[in-house]
Amino acid sequence: MLEVRDLCVKYGHFTALQDINLSVQTGEIVVLLGANGAGKSTLFRTLSGLQRPSSGSATWNGTPLTGGRPEFNVAHGVAQCPEGRLLFPDLSVEKNLRLGAFVHRSDPAGTARELERVYELFPALVEKRSAPAGSLSGGQQQMVAIARSLMARPQLLLLDEPSLGLAPLVVEQVFEAVQRVNAAGVSVLLAEQNAFAALGIAHRGYVLEGGRVTLQGAQHDLMTDDRVRSAYLGV
Ligand code: ATP
Repeated sequence: MLEVRDLCVKYGHFTALQDINLSVQTGEIVVLLGANGAGKSTLFRTLSGLQRPSSGSATWNGTPLTGGRPEFNVAHGVAQCPEGRLLFPDLSVEKNLRLGAFVHRSDPAGTARELERVYELFPALVEKRSAPAGSLSGGQQQMVAIARSLMARPQLLLLDEPSLGLAPLVVEQVFEAVQRVNAAGVSVLLAEQNAFAALGIAHRGYVLEGGRVTLQGAQHDLMTDDRVRSAYLGV
């Protein structure tokens, strides 16, 4: 499981995350709700090893994630799918996917197997495998970004704002894909502003405001919480 204890992250004198406590159990989809600037990306960057915390801890199945070595975190089962997808638009879909397997570069047979597995999870990408990633629709590009993260064979996927800029129907397709990924055995921590869609597939969630966890609960409790409904569900 992912265990985050009393985590604080600062940028100079500015405290971006303050005393964060959260967990993701094996097999769960956990959503992290928060407005722009709440600290979601900072948390993900920290869990990916890109940002060192000023205090506190974060472990995945007991392995510390805060050593500041992203490749160590990926090798130990934690992969991030970044906000904005960050694909290489001129490279083919398949080349983008293969880049996600960099950490397993000494195991080409394993990478070939993983490639077939992600094409099974994302069948729409099969016919696009030779197309430049930048030529795909926004929803398809998001699928490529998620599939690329899976090529690292993570046990925990950190998924940052996958619905960004997508039409509602496409968001639905992306979230269905996230459920398939989860059903295939990958635990998911999902940062989202689209609370309605995210809570629809999550088991539990946390609300992050101003760098602090201000609310947490099971899917149904958050869906029916008045503060969540007015701030994030627009009802
Ligand atoms: P968004 O959805 O807009 O990305 P977020 O919830 O992911 O928002 P963060 O990007 O984690 O939020 O930012 C949290 C706070 O930290 C913000 O106030 C932001 O301005 C600040 N911040 C982020 N990165 C840096 C940095 N490199 N230097 C200084 N401040 C930063």
